[in-house]
Amino acid sequence: MKQSLLFAPTLREIPKEAVISSHQMLLKGGYIKMNAAGVYTYLPLALRVIKKIEDIIRDELNKIGCSELLMPALQLKELWQESGRWDVYGKELMRLQDRHDRDFCLGPTHEEVITSIVRDYVTSYKKLPLALYQIQTKFRDEFRPRFGLMRGREFIMKDLYTFHANEEDLDVWYQMVKKAYQNILDRLHVLYRSVSANSGQIGGSSSEEFMVLCEVGEDTICYSDESSFATNTELMDLKEGDPSPDGKGTIHLAKGIEVGHIFKLGTKYTKAMNANFIDADQTKKPIIMGCYGIGVSRLIMAIVEQNNNEKGILWPESVAPFKVHVLPLDKMGTPNFEVAERVAKELEQAGLEVLLDDRDERPGVKFGDADLVGARYRLIFGRKTAEGIVELKDMFNNTSTEVEITSINKEMFN
Ligand code: ATP
Ligand code: MG
Repeated sequence: MKQSLLFAPTLREIPKEAVISSHQMLLKGGYIKMNAAGVYTYLPLALRVIKKIEDIIRDELNKIGCSELLMPALQLKELWQESGRWDVYGKELMRLQDRHDRDFCLGPTHEEVITSIVRDYVTSYKKLPLALYQIQTKFRDEFRPRFGLMRGREFIMKDLYTFHANEEDLDVWYQMVKKAYQNILDRLHVLYRSVSANSGQIGGSSSEEFMVLCEVGEDTICYSDESSFATNTELMDLKEGDPSPDGKGTIHLAKGIEVGHIFKLGTKYTKAMNANFIDADQTKKPIIMGCYGIGVSRLIMAIVEQNNNEKGILWPESVAPFKVHVLPLDKMGTPNFEVAERVAKELEQAGLEVLLDDRDERPGVKFGDADLVGARYRLIFGRKTAEGIVELKDMFNNTSTEVEITSINKEMFN
């Protein structure tokens, strides 16, 4: 694609409210635009990244047998009364009325809606288990929206709900989803810990949070340096250097960003909302549920927090908005530019996502903007183009090599 046609309105000055580097870079690079506190437009570059994150999530969830659907954001008050949450959810719930004075909310989460769908369909154990997810915009009137996409009032979440005939089946699925989450975060190239969110309770952990390790995180986690023990400090009074409660290793503290949460719900919603099934023994039982969220828009920020340098963003390849950035340092109409344009076209035809900087800008501006686009590879058509040589930079590994133009091919970018 031609950069002159890409809508990435870069900023020279970083707005004062952006205090963490990911927020600054996403604003500076023209990825996001604030519309109101905690409400953002995902501009084309951000949307490209979001779609890639979403596709990785889809791939891993579909692999274990989950199906995607899309539920409404607009939810009736009566459903929330059935679960009992209309009165207890508080001010975070965005409430509104239609022209007939009926009460609705904009969904902050979808346990009520999914339970109301499944109870009409699943009446027998033969239809269980079931795993349904969506990737959708959620609304929460957060007390303190901040850090850009980190804590929004309108944000994108993947929410999965599973339904089971017994606890054992829920346990099996919980572990499968946990593994899928690990795969997702590995593919997104973020360093994380999964921490128990209620390890103090009898019966082991039935809720785990996935924390991307990061100085600007709002949560503090403690983990052992010798075992997989890790927990949110909200739950246990542990200090740096304490012995690990499991007897293995020493405790360290770290800041984390919660990007995912998996939860064994049990029958909390199905009992309240009469979602029952007839089991093999002919008795009526409430369906057993699990729920599992991933903060998709929050993840963009977590990825940038962990993958940047002082100049810009180093997107992991799996989510980079473009694979190859072609930078001719001469203007359109020059032989140098024409060679670059031809190479860009060939690579694009070979199936790569290529961005060609066709703008009439100084090299300094082109490089500065390229640092914010964060394509994995950069092909620079400079002085040696006439001799048939260009510079290939692998931004992620920070290496640079000279390559002959005639040798450029798709495989070089794998
Ligand atoms: P937090 O403690 O950060 O408020 P939560 O426990 O309320 O999160 P869940 O209800 O478990 O979050 O939602 C699932 C996921 O959605 C979270 O793990 C997080 O990644 C994301 N998320 C929650 N609230 C927001 C928000 N206001 N803005 C962006 N992402 C969010
Ligand atoms: Mg919250």
